[in-house]
Amino acid sequence: MPTIQHFINGKRVDGSGDIPVFNPATGEQSGSAPIADATLLDEVVTQAQETARTWRNSSLSVRTNILFTFRALLVKHTDELASIITAEHGKTIADAKGEIARGLENVEYACGLAEHMKGGFSSQVADGVDVHSVREAVGVVAAITPFNFPIMVPLWMTANALATGNVVILKPSERDPSVSVRIAELLKEAGLPDGVFNVLHGNADLVNGILNHPGIDAISFVGSTPVAKHVYETGTKNAKRVQALGGAKNHMVVLPDADLDIAADAAINAGFGSAGERCMAISVVVAVGNVAEPLIAKITERMDKLTVGPGNDPKSDFGPVITKEHRDRIVSYVVNAPADGVKVVRDGTAMAADKGFYVGPCLLDGVKPGMKSYDDEIFGPVLGIARVATYSDAVALINSNQFGNGTAIFTRDGNAARLFSREVTVGMIGINVPIPVPIASYSFGGWKNSLFGHSHIYGPEGFTFYTRAKVITTRWPQPSESQIDLGFPRTR
Ligand code: NAD
Repeated sequence: MPTIQHFINGKRVDGSGDIPVFNPATGEQSGSAPIADATLLDEVVTQAQETARTWRNSSLSVRTNILFTFRALLVKHTDELASIITAEHGKTIADAKGEIARGLENVEYACGLAEHMKGGFSSQVADGVDVHSVREAVGVVAAITPFNFPIMVPLWMTANALATGNVVILKPSERDPSVSVRIAELLKEAGLPDGVFNVLHGNADLVNGILNHPGIDAISFVGSTPVAKHVYETGTKNAKRVQALGGAKNHMVVLPDADLDIAADAAINAGFGSAGERCMAISVVVAVGNVAEPLIAKITERMDKLTVGPGNDPKSDFGPVITKEHRDRIVSYVVNAPADGVKVVRDGTAMAADKGFYVGPCLLDGVKPGMKSYDDEIFGPVLGIARVATYSDAVALINSNQFGNGTAIFTRDGNAARLFSREVTVGMIGINVPIPVPIASYSFGGWKNSLFGHSHIYGPEGFTFYTRAKVITTRWPQPSESQIDLGFPRTR
């Protein structure tokens, strides 16, 4: 059985410990990942601090060239990377390629680092005095990532952190860790000096070690809300810069004037794509007015045509979920829903008996706050329908939810859509777009319990997060201007 390795100082390194990694399509163990202990973490951080002193001084053109070459290598190896992702995550090959493409965008954005790192200059702010600002790398950045996007989320963080001159230690999800090591190899092939990008495997203990290690300057985290909150609280208590993105419960509002075929297509794509294991998946369709009955008819008609199977079978629309435990948790929400008064319109739980970690598409009608199937992030192929009377009820439902990652509205009414985008307390909004993940030149982030810390991830906010500002005030006095003045510096 293959043993997954750490990647430290430019090479693969064996480790001790044994975290089983599964192929979700078969349910069988496919490998095992090591666990970096406190001693190894300390060694890697010490070396990272040393490397950071030289890497931060590399020229912008050197970094740009490496990122350009890295981008080309990601394109060249897309098939290989997609099959590594599918084998451990379970998503379809097409979906894995989609994830790679969205990760690539971030590398492309980072290639513009000379533009993004430009400072300001003000001439003659006082007589003979100029001021300019620069941004410098924070130092050693830890990137801690979830299972559901094993390449895209590491690239969200890594591309900008390296571009800005930081050394990165990536702690990928222990459930699908292999592709991270390939990223490290491709970065090395692209010319990244040894030690600038490292991968350490492990679980919660390693994360806690990172949060408490004094040599780590900044932490980018993406994962579930309870862990995001813990990472933010512990990291900031230890005076680190932290951005911690958490879970979600994304609502898609369908107004009575919407094109219901387009809305039903969107609900299927965003609800069941990647088995619902996306932080921007739609998990609740909010049917306004009399929309519910015709919309449910169109959604079920489409659900009945979905094929669930191994991710490497081109006929599969979506694959298995990540683990047996997660499958059983998803099933429990569907099984327990009727006790809350929810109607199970489509029940895909019978697939849980199959070999592999499968759940078929499920549709729950009548979900409301106070019910577990509404309140919790299920993170599986389970779509809820919430029925509300008016547009205002839909907005109130979204705004009272603890999460605020993404939301969407389907309508032909431009004024309603504009009002919606202004009224909802959510970070990313789609108007007739069900999964509004911003392109790389905007930053990604939710509100409320979907993000701890003030900085959104990637794009301009990513560049700001990974850098510290310096402002330099300069005077080149004439020798004749020599004088003693103990007053506070004045500009006039
Ligand atoms: P997770 O929180 O279980 O794990 C994320 C990372 O935290 C992993 O590297 C894991 O090893 C580590 N971890 C797990 N438990 C820990 C603990 N108790 N203490 C310290 N570290 C711990 O998340 P997951 O199941 O891998 O990913 C799915 C979750 O991530 C969902 O909630 C999803 O919404 C969220 N997510 C959010 C975004 C976003 O951008 N907001 C994007 C992708 C995923």
